[in-house]
Amino acid sequence: MTIERKHNFFAGPAVLPLPVVEAVQAQLPNFMGMGTGLMESSHRSKQFSQTWAHAQSLMAKLFGVPDTHEIMFLQGGASLQFLNVPMNLMPKGGKADYIDTGTWSKKAIKEAKWVGDTSVLWSGADIGYNRCPTPDEYQVRPDASYLHYTTNNTIAGTQFLAEPVSGDVPLVADMSSDMLCCPRDVARHAVIYAGAQKNMGPSGVVIIIVDKGILERTEVDIPTYLNYRTHVGKIFNTPNTLGVFVIEKVLEWIDGMGGLEAMHDHNKAKAGLLYGTLDGSDFWKPHATTDSRSLMNVTWRIADNDLEPKFIAEAAEAGLLGLKGHRSVGGLRASIYNACPVPSLEALVAFMNEFERVNG
Ligand code: PMP
Repeated sequence: MTIERKHNFFAGPAVLPLPVVEAVQAQLPNFMGMGTGLMESSHRSKQFSQTWAHAQSLMAKLFGVPDTHEIMFLQGGASLQFLNVPMNLMPKGGKADYIDTGTWSKKAIKEAKWVGDTSVLWSGADIGYNRCPTPDEYQVRPDASYLHYTTNNTIAGTQFLAEPVSGDVPLVADMSSDMLCCPRDVARHAVIYAGAQKNMGPSGVVIIIVDKGILERTEVDIPTYLNYRTHVGKIFNTPNTLGVFVIEKVLEWIDGMGGLEAMHDHNKAKAGLLYGTLDGSDFWKPHATTDSRSLMNVTWRIADNDLEPKFIAEAAEAGLLGLKGHRSVGGLRASIYNACPVPSLEALVAFMNEFERVNG
């Protein structure tokens, strides 16, 4: 029996590679020969310990995570990390700097203000968050504990194409919607965090990569689970075992595709198809400026905004799902994460060309 799968442009939870979904399906009744299912087996079993360790080692290999950094699979989503990061990295009386490139940055800033002196160095609020700043537009305080930025802005459809400049101040990145879409300089980061549900797995797991040296140097007194130190070198409590297994399979899939350089090329080619169409006619109005265009979430309007509900409805009828912009900004958005295949982009572009022909 063939399973019907439509073109999936949801922002998250989002499309996973079909071989990953099938690998999960195969382990559901009997996990790695244990005779108990994937969701029914102990997180202390030899089999799950192997899954955990393999997910960590593959992540380290593919993403270039140095030994100085710990890779954790925790819970609470990226949203809990908005608070968890300042709690762990900002000592009493400390400071932290933030760049505001959209809704998710703003939420991170709000939580940091609970903890200490939080400065917003640059904000794109007045320009509708249509780009990320260049290094000459902000000045990091040399005594800040870190500079926080959002690598990819899921709602606005913008992305930092190069890391921010921060001198000796370590970086902290929310990579929820683009982690593993391209290589990054992990060593420059005190913390990288990402909800898994866009580019790496199901919801219910947050991936956190932490510089252990910074943890040793920073003295903070915080509750047990929230303290990163609790999770270094061990599985502290019951993790999302199903989610971590999916992440392991996604990492194996990326490895098989040739790693992050290959993934980056694949993403540039896919995004190019869509941006090319948007640039090709005044019928469409792409949101992000060309120097900040996201490879993961492409956002645009139809010049005649009134046509957008029709576009969304007819696209859904044609099997193209998830093209409605975030409810806070409206418009249109196609989320084209790693696992979104080229044929989905081709189908979208063909649909857009026909829609323009009929309605333009
Ligand atoms: N940061 C970014 C960039 C996001 O896109 C999202 C979710 N859309 C979040 C944080 C919040 O993630 P979570 O739902 O896992 O808390």
